[in-house]
Amino acid sequence: MAGLALEGVGRDYGATRAVGRVDLAFREGELTALLGPSGCGKTTLLRIIAGLEPPSRGRILLGGRDITAMPAHLRRFGMVFQSFALFPHLNVRDNVAYSLAISGTGRAARHARADELLDLVRLGHLGDRSISALSGGQKQRVAIARALAQDPEVFLLDEPMSALDAKLREEMQVELRLLQQRLGITTIVVTHDQREAMSMADRIVVMSEGRAEQVGAPQEIYDRPDNAFVAGFIGRNNFFDAVAVPGGLEADGYRLALEPGPAFRPGSPVRAACRPERIRLGQDLPEGNRLPARVVFVRAIGSERDVHVETPLGPFVVAQGSGLQGGDGIAAGREVALHLPPGALQVYPAQSR
Ligand code: ATP
Repeated sequence: MAGLALEGVGRDYGATRAVGRVDLAFREGELTALLGPSGCGKTTLLRIIAGLEPPSRGRILLGGRDITAMPAHLRRFGMVFQSFALFPHLNVRDNVAYSLAISGTGRAARHARADELLDLVRLGHLGDRSISALSGGQKQRVAIARALAQDPEVFLLDEPMSALDAKLREEMQVELRLLQQRLGITTIVVTHDQREAMSMADRIVVMSEGRAEQVGAPQEIYDRPDNAFVAGFIGRNNFFDAVAVPGGLEADGYRLALEPGPAFRPGSPVRAACRPERIRLGQDLPEGNRLPARVVFVRAIGSERDVHVETPLGPFVVAQGSGLQGGDGIAAGREVALHLPPGALQVYPAQSR
């Protein structure tokens, strides 16, 4: 198979436009995360790819072949649902072997294949167990093994971790990623959890209101968000309003230099952002790009801390990592100075979200 591609794919439910017109190419062997807030259309898009939902417009291509009208059961796509959707009356092995039974594989062969897959997800010893006697993490592994039974060309997962507690979720993220890399299977994961997307995916598609807002590697999206929505949705950010001036910004009488590059027309209103970990606070600050601030709250966790400050441009959070010197006197009520490095300032049109 060559990659999977969407061309102008969209879906309306009556007057609701769940997915607008999406163009995406999923690369072979990569894990792509569809990431966005509730209602942005990510589940609808995954169901369209799976063939469970007909698109209102556009085409789906697999290896260059148009599969838009191909029924779900002929697509050889493995799917894991949020609820796992296991058969409670079948034991673990028979759940995994189910699709093989449907396709006419003999009993011995499908049991052998099921046991092989159960070994792969580290459940080899539980084939005879009933589904109701499994933990959440074990159920999820069964759902993954079942989806892989037919050697799918594409592996689709809808919020696979959402039924798991936080610790198990992190373990399963690592496990799923290792399995996906070992099998080299083209995989699409729907999630609303940016940490999950950042930690697992080769590429992330950030979605909002039925649109793909940005597509890129996790670090690329974090470092260079295309718009204010992405800048606010991925990671933490401090936003403030400003006006473009030659070489920089002006906000409430404070001048902030920007790195040379494409600039906004002087006088145009802009929305600027600066990541909490890029802001410097305290003594020995570089010249320029400074703001006065008053500390309102310090949230310290071990060697890291968030310093919440009030500035003339509004509230900011400054994140300080390891290497902190204790006893530097940063505490609620203190007047301090902030430095916003020119290279850390992101600037977007004012009307963008
Ligand atoms: P969530 O994370 O909450 O599951 P999502 O990003 O997966 O959200 P979708 O479930 O794809 O979003 O829904 C996108 C939009 O389409 C929403 O406004 C939703 O209400 C609407 N929608 C989805 N399915 C249907 C349906 N069967 N009938 C009508 N509207 C629907």
